[in-house]
Amino acid sequence: MKLILFGPPGSGKGTQASLLAKKINIPHLSTGDILRAKLNDNDELAQELSKIMSSGNLVPDSVLNPIVSEKLLSNECKNGFILDGYPRNISQSDFLINFLEKNKIELDLIIDFTADTETVKQRILERAKIENRSDDNLDVISTRLEKYFNETQPLADLFKLKFTGKFIEINAMQEISKIQSEIQNRLENA
Ligand code: AMP
Repeated sequence: MKLILFGPPGSGKGTQASLLAKKINIPHLSTGDILRAKLNDNDELAQELSKIMSSGNLVPDSVLNPIVSEKLLSNECKNGFILDGYPRNISQSDFLINFLEKNKIELDLIIDFTADTETVKQRILERAKIENRSDDNLDVISTRLEKYFNETQPLADLFKLKFTGKFIEINAMQEISKIQSEIQNRLENA
């Protein structure tokens, strides 16, 4: 099963991705998690990433594209993957579509988690208390949401057109269990 998830920060897509990954036993590829793990390397790249991520801006495509393409071709992903947090802008989207075509990788489902700005802001502030992420504060949240709605949401619209019949929208403001069962139902009919 090969899935891509779209949704603003705080929409709960990471939570759903990890629940689903466990349930159907495929890897959850969260580019945010991969980058956060790189911060522990304490090298020059880690310092650069830390600066960009704590400001809520996007890490350059030259860092992300090789990470994602290498992962997707790895043995770990041979039975599928849940891609969460990528693509985030038009050039990543062009790169990914090209890469999937070139490697004959067929997506099964694209899920767009929709939620309004106020709901996601409140959720991120709640999460900040638990996870202590440097990018979960009001200023940075505004930048991240602006990036999402300006650069990433238009890609969901593009994928909706390109992958008709494989694209679903889910109201991310519902209970976690309700969202989970909507996804499960859709997968059973995929
Ligand atoms: P996330 O956990 O998905 O909210 O990602 C946290 C941060 O990692 C983002 O605010 C970006 O700085 C960076 N990041 C994650 N995925 C990408 C991506 N596909 N392109 C650029 N930056 C990314």
